[in-house]
Amino acid sequence: MGINCALDGPSGAGKSTVAKAVAKELGFVYVDTGALYRAIGLYAARQGACTTSAQEVVPLLSDINVELKYNEGTQIVLLNGEDVSKAIRVNEISMAASNVSAIPEVRSFLLDLQRDIAAKNDIIMDGRDIGTVILPNADVKVFMTASAEERADRRYKELIEKGQDVTYDEILNDINQRDYNDSHRATAPLKKADDAIELDTSNMSIDEVVEAISNIIKEKTVKPVAPVEMKKVKWTLGLVLYAIVRFIVAIPVYICFNIKIEGKENIPHAGGMVVASNHRTWFDPIMIGMCIIKPGAYMAKEELFKNKLLGVLLKILQAFPVSRGSADRAPLDKAVDYVDRGFNLVLFPEGTRSKDGSLGKPKSGVAYVASISGAPVCPVGILFEGKLRFRSKITIRFGAPISPDEIKIEKMSAREMHKVRDRIYGAIGDLLK
Ligand code: C5P
Repeated sequence: MGINCALDGPSGAGKSTVAKAVAKELGFVYVDTGALYRAIGLYAARQGACTTSAQEVVPLLSDINVELKYNEGTQIVLLNGEDVSKAIRVNEISMAASNVSAIPEVRSFLLDLQRDIAAKNDIIMDGRDIGTVILPNADVKVFMTASAEERADRRYKELIEKGQDVTYDEILNDINQRDYNDSHRATAPLKKADDAIELDTSNMSIDEVVEAISNIIKEKTVKPVAPVEMKKVKWTLGLVLYAIVRFIVAIPVYICFNIKIEGKENIPHAGGMVVASNHRTWFDPIMIGMCIIKPGAYMAKEELFKNKLLGVLLKILQAFPVSRGSADRAPLDKAVDYVDRGFNLVLFPEGTRSKDGSLGKPKSGVAYVASISGAPVCPVGILFEGKLRFRSKITIRFGAPISPDEIKIEKMSAREMHKVRDRIYGAIGDLLK
């Protein structure tokens, strides 16, 4: 089930322009339901039927097949296989659509089609009865209005631009008539759903409306991150040693570089999180480890453990070996185990350092650890420009945590893992911009 946003309102309120832009910004599918009624109106008009007569229109429905297709985000309306996306936009068809839309059989004929699209995608759907009838459980409902004069003016300009021969008075009359039809019909009249947010756009620019609606959607659909349960780590002698060694190892790094920390409010103060960062230098784990008070655990390539002294140091620092390029799950399970025991697991999902700072090829290990442990993920971006020199500025940017709900998987499959992986990589990538 995708995120469903219902955008209702009278004709000419600018819903389609706004919904298209909001859909583009949020990566949603825009569904213009008016186009469906227009397609039926067009068919009835072409057949010479009186579009206000249910007796004449209803028998035609069995001959009609309406489909919506999407070409690079643009909605295409197919009427019995014919692309009628342009033909339905002429002014006469607006009235035909309004007329046929008052016929209950027409409305129920189009109901499933609209619900099916909403069930399969993140959508913003514009219409008249989306919040009240089609998607009564929509995540977000907005009712967009503007004065009849303002709407007539907008539509007039739009049609003139398209080269149609219309007058302002004609358009205003049509709008008043369609408002009346839409709000007085017996079935699914135009009305604000009780739980819809009303937005009067009379004195707003399109950009302002787009921003307002995008913000409403973001606010309502971005799930608040559940407060992270503090996991307790048993402070053993080994961990006291960890804290001391971590501090000593970090001193030269902090002397040699000008380290700036951003997003301090996002630094995990609780334990049991996955901290996923891009990888620039060998001392990334040290810099990150120093920012986090709770003990961390780290994955390190197994070659490093071959050197005895370094091996002991790494062990004190709670690092454990992973063999690069191997499909062995054991280190990942060990990582999950650390998280379960309350450590903040610091890992670099790309596996290897990137010279230019761009994110490397995505790997799914991080998705495995995060989804199996059910831990929140703290994304981190490490940024610096050019070659590192003495006192070069390095920024460590902590991003907002990704809640376990967002990266929960229903079943273990490559597809699900890739979705989680891409969510985490996306969050790290955003911090590098
Ligand atoms: O939105 P648009 O102006 O393209 O819609 C054409 C007509 O279809 C409207 O005047 C309205 O009567 C009808 N309609 C409807 N319910 C919807 C969408 C449109 O009744 N969900």
